Amino acid sequence: MSATVLVVEDELAIQELVAYSLRNAGYIVVCASSAEQAAKHINEVLPDLVLLDWMLPGRSGVEFARSLRRDLRTKSVPVIMLTARVDESDKVAGLESGADDYITKPFSPRELIARIKAVLRRSLPEATDDILDVGGVKLNPIMHRVTVTDPDDGIHEKELLLSPTEYRLLHFLMAHAERVHTRAQLLDRVWGDHVFVEDRTVDVHIRRLRKALEVAGKADLVQTVRGAGYRFSIRNESEI
Ligand code: CA
Repeated sequence: MSATVLVVEDELAIQELVAYSLRNAGYIVVCASSAEQAAKHINEVLPDLVLLDWMLPGRSGVEFARSLRRDLRTKSVPVIMLTARVDESDKVAGLESGADDYITKPFSPRELIARIKAVLRRSLPEATDDILDVGGVKLNPIMHRVTVTDPDDGIHEKELLLSPTEYRLLHFLMAHAERVHTRAQLLDRVWGDHVFVEDRTVDVHIRRLRKALEVAGKADLVQTVRGAGYRFSIRNESEI
């Protein structure tokens, strides 16, 4: 699953260079030249990371970072600030505004990618290539394969056949196992769209995912938390 990065930078030459480097590294890139434009993009699709220039026309990058932190929907989207400033006090101000990291211009594309990767590894485990193994379900992001131990002999591995959406949903739920996600959160993080996709869509795909897992006796791992949403959990309902 490739991560979406929103690049907010008013200097077009830098915006283009950054977008080019990120696309080369496999990221999906959305560009904005002002905080206002960025807000519009975010309202449509929630990015996995925001690369934010400090000096923007109109609303400053620091102000924008603060507003992202205040909003429940964008609160946990990581922000990396881009800036020409080198002053230590500015760095502190940038981090205090809620940024996760800070890169001073000029920077090399390699450094930028390395910093993005490090931040995403913490915030977005489903965007890494780490193999997940939860409750006897194994998901390999490189091979795009999901396997479970055959319930009949307890030894052999059986591959689950999942549609791309069910796969992404399972990947997200497993990467954040034991945590409850609302339908709106799942739409944002799995479908990337909370506006035009209906909540009911989530229920339909959860049902299909359970059906696929049922073959291996693992349907119970995908749990409904009444009034809250869904989670992938190895604990039984009775233990909650
Ligand atoms: Ca600027």
